[in-house]
Amino acid sequence: MIKFIAANKWFNNHQVLNNISLEIAKGEVIVICGPSGAGKSTLLRTINKLEPIDDGEIIVDGMYLSDPKTDLTSLRAEIGMVFQHFNLYPHKTAIRNITLAPRKVRGLSKRKSTERATKLLEKVGLSHRRDAFPVQLSGGEQQRVAIARSLAMEPKIMLFDEPTSALDPELINEVLEVMIALAKEGMTMVVVTHEIGFAQKVADRVVFMDDGEIMEVGSPPDIFVNPQHPRTKDFMSSVFHIPVFDESHEEE
Ligand code: ADP
Ligand code: MG
Repeated sequence: MIKFIAANKWFNNHQVLNNISLEIAKGEVIVICGPSGAGKSTLLRTINKLEPIDDGEIIVDGMYLSDPKTDLTSLRAEIGMVFQHFNLYPHKTAIRNITLAPRKVRGLSKRKSTERATKLLEKVGLSHRRDAFPVQLSGGEQQRVAIARSLAMEPKIMLFDEPTSALDPELINEVLEVMIALAKEGMTMVVVTHEIGFAQKVADRVVFMDDGEIMEVGSPPDIFVNPQHPRTKDFMSSVFHIPVFDESHEEE
């Protein structure tokens, strides 16, 4: 569904993506983790060509992103994106936030788009909040509306960039639960997150990035419990406070 072939990207002289090769199958859930500045957001943004790469190739659902003939509107129509900050339209109610793009971009009727949005609000557990304005919603509720708004465009791929990192701790699970349900329905998902519980529940593979490079790819236990690369080990022990078994002491 998504294929990176030796993708490189520089910002001025700084290489932010270094020889990225990764293939993501339809229905796969990929979690990307790594330190701040590793290039995780940039990598996500290359998938819908919000950031172009300088060399290599990215193929999304058969579309070659380096090909100038690839239509960005069709590409982006297949990809939903959810950010750390929800950016809902502040003067529109929850349901109108969700119906807006399908009406404006897809030309859906008010009735059709409202039907679809009503189902999506139910799916994210917010039927009772349909007429609330963003300011009246908690951060967790706003993020669930943002997810429903993305889903209203019927994307084939969903990208999430640290979707829970701006939330108070007690609001994180309600958002993760919506994402877990989506993963279980077979959505192709690429999720930048440090929520290890989410990764363990639904990630098919975890990608550890550092310094623009993919250092290590594996199952959640491979990466979180038994990382091989020294930088993955360092990162896991500092961020997750998981004691990592160090074989260098084995013979002592
Ligand atoms: P992450 O999401 O892993 O924290 P980013 O993808 O945001 O990392 O950034 C990777 C590197 O690229 C960082 O060093 C960052 O400062 C740099 N960077 C990101 N966006 C830009 C930009 N628009 N212009 C210049 N440098 C950028
Ligand atoms: Mg980022």
